[in-house]
Amino acid sequence: MFDGFREECGVFAIHGHPEAANMSYLGLYALQHRGQESAGIAASDGNVVRCTKSMGHVADIFSPRVLSTLPGHLAIGHTRYSTSGDTVLLNAQPFSVQCNKGQIAVAHNGNITNAKELREELEQEGSIFQATSDTEVILHLVARSRERTLAGALREALLELEGAFSLVFLANDRIIVARDPLGFRPLAMGQLEISGQKSCYVFASETCAFDLIGAVYLNEVEPGEMVIVGPEGVTRERFAPMRERAHCVFEHVYFSRPDSIVFGRPVAQSREMLGRLLAQESHVDADLVVPVPDSGVSAALGYSAESKLPFRQALIRNHYVGRTFIEPSQAIRDFGVKLKLNPVRHLLEGKRVVLVDDSVVRGTTSRKIVRMVRSAGAREVHLRVSCPPTVSPCFYGVDTPSKNELIAANHSIEEIRRFVEADSLAYLSMASLRRAVGDVDQDFCYACYSGNYPTDLVNVEELMLARDRR
Ligand code: AMP
Repeated sequence: MFDGFREECGVFAIHGHPEAANMSYLGLYALQHRGQESAGIAASDGNVVRCTKSMGHVADIFSPRVLSTLPGHLAIGHTRYSTSGDTVLLNAQPFSVQCNKGQIAVAHNGNITNAKELREELEQEGSIFQATSDTEVILHLVARSRERTLAGALREALLELEGAFSLVFLANDRIIVARDPLGFRPLAMGQLEISGQKSCYVFASETCAFDLIGAVYLNEVEPGEMVIVGPEGVTRERFAPMRERAHCVFEHVYFSRPDSIVFGRPVAQSREMLGRLLAQESHVDADLVVPVPDSGVSAALGYSAESKLPFRQALIRNHYVGRTFIEPSQAIRDFGVKLKLNPVRHLLEGKRVVLVDDSVVRGTTSRKIVRMVRSAGAREVHLRVSCPPTVSPCFYGVDTPSKNELIAANHSIEEIRRFVEADSLAYLSMASLRRAVGDVDQDFCYACYSGNYPTDLVNVEELMLARDRR
């Protein structure tokens, strides 16, 4: 079954570094939060492209021995998240193939909304697919193109794609990166100085990857832009005309790290502002502001600064929760959430608490946390959410569940308040979300909060059904 969305991912690329694979490893390590399912690196020494990918975390996959099998001065990397079904190694990236354009590898962040149609066309013309991921479609389009060079084939292929893509390609002697015309997913460009030379270029989903390797952030790869870094230097060109933009607002709300610059704006600045505006809009008499760690911390700091209520870390997160744990045979209530979070009773006892989180999706986590805070002695629990109600699924690369699982798509705020068992509940308004991310020119996509999708989704019913089947 074709089931090619829900790609939450991080991408990285580097050109002109003697230890390109090692640098990619570090870059992916910093991007681990964008996907914990699988990771991979493809590197080239100018002649041969070699690729290693595996299920699991970056640090577990890439030992010094594995990295030593990836020699060369250019490389790309990918870290991928997926929730179910197609979590097989076949879908891990980069994809690497030998075709009439030579050896190429590709890694992708986003979701191609017309992948199913393109794939059916390609299959009718004889293409054979190995995986269910939509990224493979791009490679087939490139291979099929009559253009002789990779850049030429890409100019053609990228125009056939609809939806969200931040792509990094590796050929024998060059890196090519591209971003969809609306700029849904981020892609930043940086530079790394090696012994006085400035010819090493890096690209990453988030700038926190640059910080770790000592690269400086230069600018964004523009929506509709392709950047080629090869032996002749750097070339930047538009493959699609300028249009409106649709940067994913959820990158600033939740997904990106607060130490990153995303779409040219520090995420920490947006998050603090989300919290400040939330405090202005939905003030409540209380004693403490408590974040749900880690996602609610920056907004809770903003809420606390604005409301003048003290910020207290009264929920402590165990950072070492892995995938495997032994669940006791006798049921322990809310066991999963207890593994991850533990309340600080002495801070909470008898207090009126403002609990701040970045989002409520199904509502089940929020309910467990509200119960946890209350059972640790809080007198009142007021839940504050630093974004508007999530009412529509994302088809551009964020793993929001289908409409029937989204609590706010089917229930009023009062019903949700009762479900999560909070004394009061408030979300941020759309106007304040816009303000917090500095969106003066309507450059963001808010589809998960508004249901207004910025592209024509030709097969929206089918996309919805595929999501429901998960
Ligand atoms: P729930 O309401 O139980 O579905 O879960 C809400 C929690 O999930 C919030 O604390 C968010 O930080 C987190 N969350 C929201 N969206 C996502 C996402 N796309 N991927 C992973 N976690 C998310």
